[in-house]
Amino acid sequence: MPVQYTIRDNVAVITLDNPPVNGLGHSTRLGIVEGVERARDDANVAAVVIIGAGKAFSGGADITEFNTPKATQEPTLATVIKAVENSEKPVIAAIHAIAMGGGLELALGAHYRVAAPGAQIALPEVKLGLLPGAGGTQRLPRAVGLETALDMIVTGAPVKSEKLAHTALFDEMAEGDLLDAAVRFAARIAQTSGPHPKVRDRDIAHTDAERIIRSAREKIAQTATHFPAPHKCIDAIERGVNEGFERGLAFERECFLALVQTPESRALRHAFFAERAAGKIADVPSNTPARKIERIGVIGAGTMGGGIAMNFVNADLPVLLLDTTPDALDRGIATIRRNFEAQAKKGKLTHEQVEARMRLITPTLAYGDLAETDLIVEAVFEDIDVKERVFRQLDDIAKPGAILASNTSTLDLDRIAAFTKRPGDVVGMHFFSPANVMKLLEVVRGAKTEKDVLASVMQLAKKIRKTAVVAGVCDGFIGNRMIEQYLRQALFMLEEGALPAQIDRAIEQFGFAMGPFRMSDLAGNDIGWAIRKRRYREQPQMRYSQIADRLCEAGRFGQKTGAGWYDYADGSREAKPSRMVDDMIAAYSKERGIERRSIGDEEIVERLVYALVNEGAKILDEGIASKASDIDIVYLTGYGFPLWRGGPMFHADATGLQNVERAVRQYAGQPNGDAWQPAALLTRLAASNGRFNA
Ligand code: NAD
Repeated sequence: MPVQYTIRDNVAVITLDNPPVNGLGHSTRLGIVEGVERARDDANVAAVVIIGAGKAFSGGADITEFNTPKATQEPTLATVIKAVENSEKPVIAAIHAIAMGGGLELALGAHYRVAAPGAQIALPEVKLGLLPGAGGTQRLPRAVGLETALDMIVTGAPVKSEKLAHTALFDEMAEGDLLDAAVRFAARIAQTSGPHPKVRDRDIAHTDAERIIRSAREKIAQTATHFPAPHKCIDAIERGVNEGFERGLAFERECFLALVQTPESRALRHAFFAERAAGKIADVPSNTPARKIERIGVIGAGTMGGGIAMNFVNADLPVLLLDTTPDALDRGIATIRRNFEAQAKKGKLTHEQVEARMRLITPTLAYGDLAETDLIVEAVFEDIDVKERVFRQLDDIAKPGAILASNTSTLDLDRIAAFTKRPGDVVGMHFFSPANVMKLLEVVRGAKTEKDVLASVMQLAKKIRKTAVVAGVCDGFIGNRMIEQYLRQALFMLEEGALPAQIDRAIEQFGFAMGPFRMSDLAGNDIGWAIRKRRYREQPQMRYSQIADRLCEAGRFGQKTGAGWYDYADGSREAKPSRMVDDMIAAYSKERGIERRSIGDEEIVERLVYALVNEGAKILDEGIASKASDIDIVYLTGYGFPLWRGGPMFHADATGLQNVERAVRQYAGQPNGDAWQPAALLTRLAASNGRFNA
């Protein structure tokens, strides 16, 4: 039963028991209302306590009911809160661990609240593009004051219960057993004569509402340009301040219903569920026993190896860091220290924490030292011969059952696995640069990778706070394979008539954090050059505009050389359009006999984004990604795709696959059209009016 009803002394105890976080699903809601009625009808009951079993008071709406009729079936949360608030016998919410969203709204409907310290208190609806829809925007300001409530509702961020102890949200902070304290409180309060206080009847504490609300609006002006929800949160709170509780509540309802329908909220909810779904692998049950990972080896103390080691020690996992020379090791360790110290300077770490992390890293030159590690992550040069040497050595020294992971970006993981006599223990862990910062981790599943190896790595990813997405073996996996098509289109458009600044501006207006040319200048244009040189050798049929090679031949590698697609003043990161580059592009077009034309922003965005979508469809069809939402997560967490558009595949679904397919076919008929081979899956789904994200 999701709700239990018991009697302690003469207090009715309603226990929410709907694991994992006592989500307020239909049967839970019903159970609360029934409990309140039962208490009303029992002459021996003088007061009611609502408490959560297990890990939470309540995490709010039951997400398994999202988008189902049950979510809106009576009693709705608003009805439950009304029943609680109108109870003549006092209702006390006893809060521990988590009171979020609808859970906090429920508690706000109670007459009194007793809390344990350390509970996370939040109204996080804004993160799903919504606002609290069961009175949260009206009651919270009346409980904690206008300023605090605005901050909590507009950001959705959790606040620890003890920080709110001085407000009217909590009547008592419980020491010791929460239920005992709540029952004692209830018995005491039952002695007092009613009616018992309702949050809705309180005044909103503020010194200057107009100024506070204006300042809240100013705060989000820059950050929430693409998100309507934070604005609506403020509007709803303001309405309650100016026109009172009832009108505020009605307006909150109106805003909620409007926000649910917005594309931004749909995209945010998609991203929320996609992230959860990414952790689930169809043929690897969630109860697959994981291997123990307590000691870790990292091979290669370069850019990636250093960042990867930082992730592990951040999670308190000791790392043995191996490189070939003392110099390389010293450099690697010094870089790690510099990075940690930079975090300390920003106040993110204390000096003690920096030292503790550094102590967890042991540098070594000897493979034998790694014999007792449970996981070894290789991050050496991207060269199959070097990888072969490393993996043969690892095979010799690693203990049985150790997981051997490669951070390769482009090499064939199955070939790497075949260098060992234990290919089932080999997996790809493709971190993104900077590895200690970027959330995304592509977990590459080789043909022989064991299921428990996958399960272990997915679990470890959570521990080091990465968003892991499983990818099959192919050149570039999910993210880089798609971005290559995007970059090809960007270069083709240069030779056809566009300039770098125009392309960057158009795609940045679409919402990408950075356009392709500013991005290349930041990462180093030589990296793409190396990839193209390999392509010219290995896949001569994949045609490229060679305009970017010209740029590299001129030594313009990007910010690090002070010149790339743009000019950079000494030490500055500000990209200034370069006359020299623009002339070079025009000369290239002329030399190729291409008549330059004006290319509209819409075409720029379509060609870049649909190049991602078309390749994504191939990746999905080939089973490299097992679901479209995984591709969306890769792009949202690793490539700066605008969150409010939900990822490339979701964006394509929202645009309509028929429209996308029509555009792809049209571009296939234009100059450089051979770069477009419409994906069979896209064509099939367009014909059947289907979607990638079913
Ligand atoms: P890097 O050149 O910065 O570092 C490589 C390190 O490996 C060097 O310190 C080198 O001394 C060491 N090394 C070379 N051979 C070795 C051996 N036999 N044994 C032990 N150490 C050895 O390179 P990086 O950028 O860190 O790339 C490492 C790997 O990560 C590559 O496979 C690369 O494709 C992949 N990767 C790189 C990025 C990126 O953005 N740089 C992103 C994702 C993945």
